[in-house]
Amino acid sequence: MQELLSDFAERRDWGPFHTPKNLAMALVGEAGELAAEFQWLDPEESARVLDDPAKATAVRMEMADVFSYLLRLADVLGVDLETALREKVAINEKRFPADTSR
Ligand SMILES: [Mg+2]
Repeated sequence: MQELLSDFAERRDWGPFHTPKNLAMALVGEAGELAAEFQWLDPEESARVLDDPAKATAVRMEMADVFSYLLRLADVLGVDLETALREKVAINEKRFPADTSR
């Protein structure tokens, strides 16, 4: 997926714009767009957000935007996201023991 995104950017000469700062800001912006899809929904409505085809498309596309900028940021910085995620889960396993963190 990172190659797909890198190729997309390279074919458009967008590399110079994909600085870590710009990608981090774009990631936050897209996270805001995703959150906006849930704004003012009550908990039950938010759980059924994919029932409306138009809303489902909007949510899926904003999730893809967030994911693409995170992947692109990781690629530019040389971060192995799978390793980082496994490290973080291990940290959280110690921080929030399952038997005492309910
Ligand atoms: Mg978007």
